[in-house]
Formats: sequence, C-alpha cells, structure tokens
Amino acid sequence: MAESHPRPHAILFPYPYQGHITPTVDLAVNLASRAFTITYVQLEFVHHAISKAHDGVGDVDFFVEARKSGLDIRYTTMSDGFSLEFDRDLNLSEYWEGMMRDFPARVDELVGSIMRSDASAAAFYLVADTLYTWPAAVAKNHNVVNVSLWTAAATWFSINYHLDLLIENGHLPYRGNGDNCINYIPGVRSISSKDLMSYMQDPDAVPVLMKIVVKAFEQVKNADFILCNTVQELEPECLSALNLKQPTYAIGPMNFSSDFTKMNVEKSLWAESDCTQWLNSKPPASVLYISFGSIVQINKKEIVEIAHGLLLSHVNFIWILRTTDALPVGFQDDVKERGLIVPWCNQNTVLSSPAVGGFLTHCGWNSVLESMWSGVPMICYPFYVDQPTNRKLVVDDWKIGIDLCDGGRVTSEGVASKINMLMRGKSSIDLREEIKKVSKILRNAFETDGSSQRNFDQFVDDLRVGLYSRREEIGSIK
Ligand code: UDP
Repeated sequence: MAESHPRPHAILFPYPYQGHITPTVDLAVNLASRAFTITYVQLEFVHHAISKAHDGVGDVDFFVEARKSGLDIRYTTMSDGFSLEFDRDLNLSEYWEGMMRDFPARVDELVGSIMRSDASAAAFYLVADTLYTWPAAVAKNHNVVNVSLWTAAATWFSINYHLDLLIENGHLPYRGNGDNCINYIPGVRSISSKDLMSYMQDPDAVPVLMKIVVKAFEQVKNADFILCNTVQELEPECLSALNLKQPTYAIGPMNFSSDFTKMNVEKSLWAESDCTQWLNSKPPASVLYISFGSIVQINKKEIVEIAHGLLLSHVNFIWILRTTDALPVGFQDDVKERGLIVPWCNQNTVLSSPAVGGFLTHCGWNSVLESMWSGVPMICYPFYVDQPTNRKLVVDDWKIGIDLCDGGRVTSEGVASKINMLMRGKSSIDLREEIKKVSKILRNAFETDGSSQRNFDQFVDDLRVGLYSRREEIGSIK
C-alpha cells in the first residue's frame, strides 16, 4: 500500500444469506475504493460453503482480486458457535435463538481484537446488517461509529421501524384482518394488511423471526447511519420520512455499483452453471427465467403444477431447481428442446441476456432489483418474510409485474395463463414499457450525478467529517 497516512477502518458483518452477502461484498469494495481499510468478517460455515462451491480454488477469499488492485480489504472468518455440519435451515429457530444469545459476545471480542491489531487506524466503524440484534451494544462498548446496513426495500424497513404504530392501530398482533388498509406509516404508501411481512401475518410459523425484528429495530434506532439497498426515486417518500429520524442513504442497487462490476468476486454459495450458450441459441425475449432464490423450499405439489403450466405454455425456460426429484416423470424429456433446468446460475448474467423475456420470481429483494436493472418484467410468487411486501411494490405500485395466483393455490392452468400474459400480447407490451422506465431510473442512479452515487459520496463525506453534527441537522437534509 503506497499511502502511509492513517486510514479509517470499517469492520463489516454480513448476514449469512446469499441476498445479504452479495450487497455487503459490494459495499466492502466500494468503501475500500474510497481509501478505507476493510475487515470483512465471514462466518466459517459460509466460508466453507463458498469454498466448496468454487471447487478447485481451495479456500475462497472474496477479495484476492481487489487486493491485487491495491485495495486494503482484509478477510477473516469466525465461528457462529455451531458446527459446520449443523443444518441451519432445517433448525432455523434453534440457530437464531442461539445467535441472539451467544453470538454477540463473540462479535464483541473479535471487534476488540481487530481494533487492537490496527492501532494506527484513523477511526473505526462497525458496519453490520440491520437484522443483527447486537450492533448498537457492540458499537457502544467499543465507542465506534455504528453503520446499519439494510439490504432490502426501504418500505420493509419502515414498517419494521414503526411496529409501535401497527400495535396502536390494532394491526399487530395480526388478527386475520383481511384487506384492512394501513395508511399511517410515515412515507409508506397505503398497504393492505395482507401484504405485510409473513412473520407479522403468521407469527407462530417461525416465532424467532418476529423476535429478531423487534430486537434488531430497537438496536437500529441507535445507529449513526443507515444504508439502504434501494434507489431514492423508487421509494422517495419512505426515504424522506426515514431521513427525518436518522441519516439514511439509498445507495442501491449495490451489486451494480461501478467499482464492483470491474472486480471478479466469487460470492455464490453454490456452483454456477453456465447458461450462456443455451441462451444464445434462443430468440430475443423468448425465455422465462424461474428462480425462487436461495432460501425458499418449494414443495413437490407446487413444482408439479409449475411444470405442467410450463408444458401448457410452450415457452422456453430456465428453471433453477436444486433437485429434479419432484419433477413429473418424463418432464425433462418433454421439454428438452426448450427448457434448461440447473441447480444455480449467475442470475445477473442470465437476466441480462436478450433472450430472457420474463422472470417468475419469489420476490426476494435482490431478484426484484436485478430484474428491474435488466428490464425484465416479473410474475410474482411470494412465499414469506418480505416477499409479500415486495410483491405489492412490483405489482401494485410500480406495475412491472403480475401475480401468479393472488395468494390462492397455484394451478397449472393459472401458471400457463400468467406466462402467456407476461410473455405475449398487450399486457406484455405494457409491462415492458413500464419496466424499461424503471430500469432507466436504476441505471441513472449510478451516473456521475445519479442519486445512489451522490448518496454514497455524501455518506462517505459524512463518515469522514462532522459525523455527529449530521444527526443534529436532520430535518434539513436531502
Ligand atoms: N441467485 C443466483 N443464482 C441463482 C439464483 C439466485 O446468483 O441461480 C442470486 C440472485 O442473483 C440474488 C440472490 O441469489 O442476488 C437471491 O437473493 P434474493 O434477495 O432475491 O432472495 P433470497 O435468496 O434472499 O430469498
């Protein structure tokens, strides 16, 4: 490293899921490009999974390339207190109960030791995923600036932020109050209670989720800065309302921020199949891409209905399925000319292919952003957590997608008819017109004076100078 003057040092703690890891890696590279020292803390089981996915590479270190280009990004791993073999998805509640109870002490110790090892740092910053339940306590203990990283929609953030209002207005606890309209959350466009997050609608399904949200959003109120993986023009009222409370910066979509795209960073938890050649053999806008993200476990019945729907629709498709066991007998033979089924791919590469004309998605936030970026309209099939809320944004507010089955049962005829609506005819043209506009908004956000670029510059300036004075100014900014 040529420079010798003290650098600010940011310690990053991503949440251990693909949809959180990707934007955190991008943030690491972008901060390092602004002369920050970065320590990226990876959980050992994630490190292990990614290393396994990139077979032959050995122990993966995301930032080898970045370091070669002169960036000071350190990569370290830590245990989450569970064995590598422990199935964290199958035992979600046990895992997160344990993480809430025992993990904060480990983090606290690690932050202390990272700080001791870099005595010349100009300042330290804790940058942790908002969904962790300990950042404010750890930041306070070490007297460091606390940056909360929210990797999803500002709308979801705002609803969590105002749990008190939901309780006051009788929408929490949820009483199956159907189509009740929630129009009192600052900056959030009127939303039906059926579009609330799944852990509010059905708190008993996975009780730990609501516990995490309650605790995490108590903590976030003590954050010095909040970064949000959205775009100001997409959720302007919501971001303005949040900015009245705490300094909040919309800097998304983070995986398209300029510095990242130049860097080759292997960050997939699964090995990627290359679909390029197959896609190149298909006509423009003729392929439906189907993926339900990294967490959703779709059941056999749903797989069978979608498969039959695909048969009826005669569309070309790529379907991301971790196992083909549940597919109807003979299905793969029937579709071998027009269907490609792979366990994982580089989603951005696929979505950016001119052959792709639609995306059947679970509405994970990253998938929504990536689809918007590439101008690919969506069929929405949300499962849980924030997915129902993202569906509302995509279908009702932005009009760039359609529902698969409006909360009802998925049927093969329904699937075929929605595929036809998305890929062919008048409705398809309208959706494409709308998403083209949204795609432009996202891309403009990274132009020299685009909103995400500007907000990121402002955030870095605010980190460096006048840290706390900005909090006092709130109300008069942006
Ligand atoms: N993804 C991918 N390959 C696939 C399927 C998904 O790279 O075959 C990526 C996708 O690009 C996105 C992430 O996995 O960045 C999924 O995040 P999202 O928020 O959409 O859903 P989640 O997995 O959190 O439910």
